[in-house]
Amino acid sequence: MKNKEELIDKYFKPNFKSAIQRKDKVEYLDYQANLAYTNLGKNLHYLIFTYGCIGNSADSETIKGILDSANFQETKNEHEADIFILNTCAIREGAEDRVWGELGRLKKYLIFKPQIIFILAGCMSQEENTIKKVLAKYNHVDIILGTHNLYKILDYLHVVLTSHEKVIEVFSYEGAVFAHLPKKRLNNFKVFVEIMFGCDEFCTYCIVPYTRGKERSRKKEDILEEITRLIENGAMEVNLLGQNVNSYGKDLYENYSFGDLLQDIARLHIPRIRFMTSHPHDLDLKTILAIKNHPQVMPHFHLPVQSGSNHILQKMNRHYTKEEYIDLVTTLRQYVPKISITTDIIVGFAGEQEADFLETIDLVKKVGFDGAYTFMYSVREGTPAAKFSEQVDNKIKNQRLQVLMAMTNEGSLSKNLSMVGHYYPVLVESISNKGNLLCGYTPDYRLVNFAGSDQLIGKIVQVKIIKAKTWFLLGELDEQP
Ligand code: SF4
Repeated sequence: MKNKEELIDKYFKPNFKSAIQRKDKVEYLDYQANLAYTNLGKNLHYLIFTYGCIGNSADSETIKGILDSANFQETKNEHEADIFILNTCAIREGAEDRVWGELGRLKKYLIFKPQIIFILAGCMSQEENTIKKVLAKYNHVDIILGTHNLYKILDYLHVVLTSHEKVIEVFSYEGAVFAHLPKKRLNNFKVFVEIMFGCDEFCTYCIVPYTRGKERSRKKEDILEEITRLIENGAMEVNLLGQNVNSYGKDLYENYSFGDLLQDIARLHIPRIRFMTSHPHDLDLKTILAIKNHPQVMPHFHLPVQSGSNHILQKMNRHYTKEEYIDLVTTLRQYVPKISITTDIIVGFAGEQEADFLETIDLVKKVGFDGAYTFMYSVREGTPAAKFSEQVDNKIKNQRLQVLMAMTNEGSLSKNLSMVGHYYPVLVESISNKGNLLCGYTPDYRLVNFAGSDQLIGKIVQVKIIKAKTWFLLGELDEQP
């Protein structure tokens, strides 16, 4: 076993400075399976833990697809696993702590099976401190790979399986955008398709532009081809993914943007199209018109506002004002009157005074959100905001959060109540965790639970809403043909 300095020197270290400069050219490549690995995973089971956002879930689908192509088998049973993969999230320190806890807990399986392979993947791996901590305290980790090189997982597994060497390889440059990466999807009716990677916004509280790299759009032809194949395979709903889908295409095309992509996907005749996440400052009229003109684009917009105070928005580097945000929402509602608008709001960002918080409350009143995810700001090491003075006391943050949550929950409940007695098409997704009920979403992305046969999973059915709660609706299946 080499000492940790040797290991850090041997392998490429992530370097935030060079990541921010973003000079590397992005290559567009076709993923080719290495036939030499066809049986690499014979008789080996892997178990993957996925943390964080939907982007990470999409990466886990890719990791599974690549592993299955080499004959590895997925298991949900920890006792059966030969490989543990932790696909990590770095957005908050709490998320990282969960990963460290899990790595410690899983170590016990080495007593009975010393050959178990531990893999740390995802955003945490992009942080230099993570590598140092693994080498110092979690030496049972065999492979560390980042978000830009997960397509090389079979190469790394081959090294560990044949030479038992540790592999630490984390690219701080963005590398390639691949077409035809294999995917193992949760189901074939609700599918997730990444349309772009990375983010160029540099919100001061967020680590993502460093861990996921610069914005790289996938080629429109590759996206449309993938969705066409998914439709042939039974897709009813496609969810387009990106950290900021509204800036899709800016790095690739002169005159083709997210609104154009939405229109082209709508012409493929898939019943439902959704997308996430959006940034207000890149939202344009073409996108709004695509939602208005194509009923397949679902009338739901998740548009994170983060704060109602212009002073705080500027400190967050969000590139819009409260007034501009309200104007955007007004325009969206003018063109698509039934659109539901949800948001993210952070309370207690560095320097937030009571007057700033009251601006947020005022914005919430003026917009009347259909739902909101509210968070207390927590310092994220490695981000510019971690160095800001005037951090807000936790007690005050918590008080503000309670006030805000009470208000946004009330707004959500009142919108849900207005749906009682009406019928909505619902794409049935699964059995709910509320007993033996089915669950699915209305076009405007409200969760509905209702009784029915599990044969309906994957189908769109009419449901009458009979009761409203803050976070979900109860309905009755309309049995009429
Ligand atoms: S838009 Fe801002 S919050 Fe969203 S991923 Fe990019 S930097 Fe982070």
